[in-house]
Parts: sequence; structure tokens; C-alpha cells
Amino acid sequence: PEIGSDPNRTYRLGIMGGTFDPIHYGHLVTAEQAREALGLDLVLFMPAGSPAFKLDQEVSSPEDRYAMTVLATAANEAFYTSRLEIDREGVTYTVDTLTYLREQYPSNVHLYFITGADAILDIVSWRDAGQIAELATLIAATRPGYDITQARERIEASGFPFDVRYIEIPALAISSTNIRQRVALGKSARYLTSESVIGYIRKNHLYRKSDSRRKDA
Ligand code: ATP
Ligand code: MG
Repeated sequence: PEIGSDPNRTYRLGIMGGTFDPIHYGHLVTAEQAREALGLDLVLFMPAGSPAFKLDQEVSSPEDRYAMTVLATAANEAFYTSRLEIDREGVTYTVDTLTYLREQYPSNVHLYFITGADAILDIVSWRDAGQIAELATLIAATRPGYDITQARERIEASGFPFDVRYIEIPALAISSTNIRQRVALGKSARYLTSESVIGYIRKNHLYRKSDSRRKDA
């Protein structure tokens, strides 16, 4: 998408990374409120190809996860879904994605990496954390009542120059794991994600039995 074209202004590009197996309203509300709170021009949803943290788990095919992400984000004019990571061979690391985007866009485009509360504590141990800190501002989504003290301390102790903006997202205990479990048990997953994603899951028999999911796909 067109971003960075006017040299006289700065642009703010959000990146929402995830496995998105499937994408759900937790991801979407977080991205939308991050967009609003930080004034992001665009949010790129970036389904992971072969997620670094999930190599030991079965994950739906990249094309299924990409399709669901497109369906769920299609109606928001500030949201786009990127094929960058799913088209790349091998394990996905955030530092590689941010480095690539930094090279693609001019310097008047600032990068914001959006992440949920569960990932904040780990960020200092991600591959090339120091480089990540220099490439992007971090938007850390927390739940109301979540204590950010530990995260702040750990980030400070790392010595890396992380710029972290904390935003509170209400009432989001939704997880992809819970949706997969509900579908596997024949339970309803409606209203945890969009109707289009619910329909896609049903039509493509996702999460029903292990042979519909490919390992390392
Ligand atoms: P799984 O249960 O398979 O781990 P997930 O629901 O955690 O899936 P991911 O694709 O792993 O979803 O998460 C992508 C990003 O979205 C991560 O930064 C994660 O912290 C964040 N995230 C996940 N669920 C929520 C939620 N309910 N509210 C806000 N952020 C979330
Ligand atoms: Mg997760």
C-alpha cells in the first residue's frame, strides 16, 4: 500500500504479527485500538510462515491462515494482510521482518510492532532483541489490571533501548487455542471471531481432526 510517499510528513506503520490459527477478535481489537491510540496510518497483519515459537506444534497451512486473516481484516480500510512471512522459506524471526520493512520504506515511515501482554515479558530474549529495539517502537497490549512492573523491569535490565507504549485492551481472554479446542469438540466459536472466519473454518474442515492440519506447514 501507498505509505511514505509525501516526504513532508511522517507515517506510522503498525505490524501485527501472529500465527493467526485462527485470527480472532482479540487480535482485531488490539490492532484497531493500537491504530487509534498511536495514530497509525496502516496496520499490516503478518501471518507467520513457520513460527519460531511453535515448531513443536501442528499449525494450519500458511494459505489457510493467510485467507482467514484476509477475510477478517478486509472491511477495515487501515488493515492489510501481508504475504511477506508466509512466502519466505524457513523459520520466521521478527528481526528479519522489521529489517526488511525498514529497507522497503523510506525513513519518514516509522515502524510500530504490536504485541500482546503474553509476549512482552519475552521480548528481551527474542533473537537480536537489541536490533528490534532500534528498528521499531513496541506497542504492548495489556489487560486492565495487568501489572506492567515486571515487564518494565526486565526491559530496563536488558539494556536494550526499547521504546514501549502500553495500551490497555478490555476483556480479551480470547485465544486461538481456545477456538481450536472448541471447534474440535464441536462447540460454537461464533462471536469469538468474524462470521467469515467461522464459515471458512467450517467449509475447510479446520481443527476437526489431525489430518486436516499439516505439521510445519
Ligand atoms: P495461540 O492460542 O495459538 O497461541 P493466540 O490467540 O495467542 O494463539 P497468536 O497468533 O499466537 O494468537 O498471537 C498473535 C499476537 O496477538 C501476539 O502478539 C499475542 O500476544 C496477541 N494476542 C493473542 N491473543 C490476544 C488477545 N486476546 N488480546 C490481545 N492480544 C492478543
Ligand atoms: Mg499465543
